Amino acid sequence: PEAITVQELAQRMAERGSDVIKALMRMGVMATITQSVDADTAELLVSEFGHRSRRVSESDVLIGMTGEEDAAETLVARPPVVTVMGHVDHGKTSLLDAIRKADVVSGEAGGITQHIGAYQVQLGSGQKITFIDTPGHAAFTEMRARGANVTDVVVLVVAANDGVMPQTVEAIAHAKAAGVPIIVAINKIDLPDANPQRVKTELLSHELVVEDMGGDVLAVEVSATKRTGLEKLEEAILLQAEVLDLRSNPARSAVGTVVEAKLDRGRGSVATVLVEKGTLKVGDIFVAGAEWGRVRALVNDRGQNVTEAGPAMPVEVVGLNGTPNAGDDLVVTEDEARAREIAEYRARKKREASSAIAARGSVEQMFSQI
Ligand code: GDP
Ligand code: MG
Repeated sequence: PEAITVQELAQRMAERGSDVIKALMRMGVMATITQSVDADTAELLVSEFGHRSRRVSESDVLIGMTGEEDAAETLVARPPVVTVMGHVDHGKTSLLDAIRKADVVSGEAGGITQHIGAYQVQLGSGQKITFIDTPGHAAFTEMRARGANVTDVVVLVVAANDGVMPQTVEAIAHAKAAGVPIIVAINKIDLPDANPQRVKTELLSHELVVEDMGGDVLAVEVSATKRTGLEKLEEAILLQAEVLDLRSNPARSAVGTVVEAKLDRGRGSVATVLVEKGTLKVGDIFVAGAEWGRVRALVNDRGQNVTEAGPAMPVEVVGLNGTPNAGDDLVVTEDEARAREIAEYRARKKREASSAIAARGSVEQMFSQI
């Protein structure tokens, strides 16, 4: 069966690799940091460290770094997180802009919007949807490569006058590989040569069967430039979210994912974070990938300072000691010592990994010169 490496285990528990190896030895298991242990051993080890683990599948053990699994009664519905994908020029950016402009809240705030990598819209019903602001599958796959699965729903944009194209097919493959449901937005229906029926037929050959062809994939006809069909699209997203039953506990220390990070001249390292569970607050101490920090300020997608951010609400976090990567986790820790320790451990592992790659490179060079 599939297994988990000692290193991965240590990282998920935020424990030192050497401590994990020692604990394994006490259990009679000899393993180096790069070797794998089976799921049973991993579960035992996790309880040994006082963490709780959860079997995601027969082979994979997911460990909450901050201990306890949230009890069912603490879980509250949270907004869905949506990534827009599709072929170039089919209207991803236009659609994201149109949805954002139609938002009631940003309208009230005078339409001043900040591009922080993600934004949230509020519908008339009060329900919210979070959109990742960087369309395309590059960001999606990069995050996934880091083990981050922030996207709940993929909106696949297909231009009604162009139909299914190579990047449409790629996007379908990525969404399917991630196990994320797809909603099809058939865009540019305002064009005279728009042919939504052809799009639906073409999608059939990629195992995407839309509702009116007897399948269960939601498809909505929209025009990003004429701003039609946007409400229907939002309704479809909420419908899909309901099926997914997205819930998390807002009343705990925050765990989230970095969706974008940069070095800002005035503010230092700034990361846009989507909280998955818990509530991130000003003053919280956290580790983000191999960096750590203390939340000095939280800024929402309208450029306003806020004191806290709950599940699926995108915020810029100011107060980092370095710049993390998109896809890195953010976990609030009990104190600074812990945050430093985890960050240093991860930074050391990163250095070791890159020097190992460099060493391999030089060996390859050596041989290529012979
Ligand atoms: P992206 O590459 O998928 O992000 O596509 P863009 O949003 O940049 O759009 C590509 C082009 O298609 C632009 O010239 C848009 O103005 C145009 N476009 C986008 N949506 C629509 C639409 O609904 N109708 C029409 N007629 N043009 C659109
Ligand atoms: Mg674009």
